[in-house]
Amino acid sequence: MTTPEPAAPGSPSLASSLDDLRRAYADLQSLGLRLDLTRGKPSAEQLDLSEALLALPGEGVHTDADGTDVRNYGGLDGLPQLRRIFAELLGVPVEQLLAAGNASLTLMYDTLAYATLFGVPGSERPWGREETVRWICPVPGYDRHFSVCEALGIEMVTVPMTPDGPDADAVAGLVADDPTIKGMWVVPTYANPDGSVVTEEVARALVSVPAAAPDFRILWDNAYALHHLTDDEVTSADAISLAAEAGHPDRVVLYASTSKITFAGAGVAFLASSPANVAWYKKHLSAQSIGPDKVNQLRHALFFGDADGVRAHMRKHREIIAPKFDAVTSILAERLGGTGVASWTEPKGGYFVSLEVVPGTASRVVELAKAAGIALTPAGAPFPYGKDPEDKVLRLAPTLPPIEEVRVAMDGVATCVLLAAAEHAAR
Ligand code: PLP
Repeated sequence: MTTPEPAAPGSPSLASSLDDLRRAYADLQSLGLRLDLTRGKPSAEQLDLSEALLALPGEGVHTDADGTDVRNYGGLDGLPQLRRIFAELLGVPVEQLLAAGNASLTLMYDTLAYATLFGVPGSERPWGREETVRWICPVPGYDRHFSVCEALGIEMVTVPMTPDGPDADAVAGLVADDPTIKGMWVVPTYANPDGSVVTEEVARALVSVPAAAPDFRILWDNAYALHHLTDDEVTSADAISLAAEAGHPDRVVLYASTSKITFAGAGVAFLASSPANVAWYKKHLSAQSIGPDKVNQLRHALFFGDADGVRAHMRKHREIIAPKFDAVTSILAERLGGTGVASWTEPKGGYFVSLEVVPGTASRVVELAKAAGIALTPAGAPFPYGKDPEDKVLRLAPTLPPIEEVRVAMDGVATCVLLAAAEHAAR
């Protein structure tokens, strides 16, 4: 979280009376806005960067670099030509990387569904036959991870996020004696929503932690591995190798996708893990599918050419979205800096800014914003079961709207944060 700066003179601050803030809010409402900062979607301008994909591979082009006719059945592992590119980018051996369909969330769901139905390598029985299966969810976190657990009847236990990733001591304390805890979510790079990056030290601690469950898993969701917003392009810790070194070779399953690289609805998703886990995953997948959409995979391989092609493409994304993140954090600093009622992250990558407001007011901020025509992600969304115990975290997603709208929306959000804080203080 940032150290707030002094408020700009003239803008309504907490020092303004409740009446002044109510007037500022009425002015905001009178603008009749219809703005949306709810979901982390790429903007149309970002999608346009990949428009050439729509003409690839092109009529008559249907053979990959290894001579496979991509139009036909088969190739459960996905096209080697594309896997080679992403193995380099994700820092994993190509033989341990699968290229699949369009959504990594599906691969995460399937991993846990297979575990529930069949168990994973090292399980004594299918997880579905355990009385209780529990899962560690670092908070704030990604709401859809929590939905996967909820859908499969997996109970969620929280640990706090730190600027260096999940609190590894809290994880160690939970898993040491409790065999019902079967694993945890980790978003290692530019986490959703707080933008934190798991350091090598925290990665090492998580993959080495002694766990009572013999089949403890870390679902390492590296959704934002390549999504830098500054020149400081972090390299994600190599959790799969670190886990093997620590004597837990099957602990980590890594996921990634091109959802926010090419098309969010028509990209390619990836899974990487130990040889045993990959074989296990493929065994169950082979009953479900004869092979992935290799035409789309070839299209992506041709579009990028090589790993540097992906890196260059990501820099074009950065040019479009970094100014939107700058707009968010500079307006927050101008309007809320020095008021003591808010702090926020300044992410170096990813898709979100996390804003902390006065405890007990996050849902009120969302309500006020909604009534002023600004849609925010529901308060509580970054927590299991949608419940933020302190009602203080808001997730801001600035990539989708045009920058002018981001500015107007953030100015409005700041007014709502101040009004909610003043109402709370006046109670
Ligand atoms: N993982 C995280 C942390 C995300 O924030 C998102 C999307 O917002 C996803 C996964 C979804 O990825 P995919 O589109 O590959 O299913």
